Amino acid sequence: MALSQEFYFHDPDERPWVVNAGCRDSDADTFFPGPDGDAELAVRICMGCPVRQECLDWAIEIRIAYGVWGGTTERERRRFLRKTA
Ligand code: SF4
Repeated sequence: MALSQEFYFHDPDERPWVVNAGCRDSDADTFFPGPDGDAELAVRICMGCPVRQECLDWAIEIRIAYGVWGGTTERERRRFLRKTA
């Protein structure tokens, strides 16, 4: 299943940037490799994404615990949130 079908388009009015998401046609498994899985491909896709900052801000704001968002892994976001707590 494509990532956009599961996540981004539940409520696009709230997040208009999703229409430009670089991952919208990607396989969801790519972006949810698990804590010890290989996130390299997902991060690489994010680095070329035109809405990476919006995505990262959103992931931090609503504290998404799982998956690669805005070019960051679960661990990286946890570390960031601990530092800024
Ligand atoms: S930054 Fe990554 S996860 Fe976020 S929309 Fe872009 S490709 Fe998708």
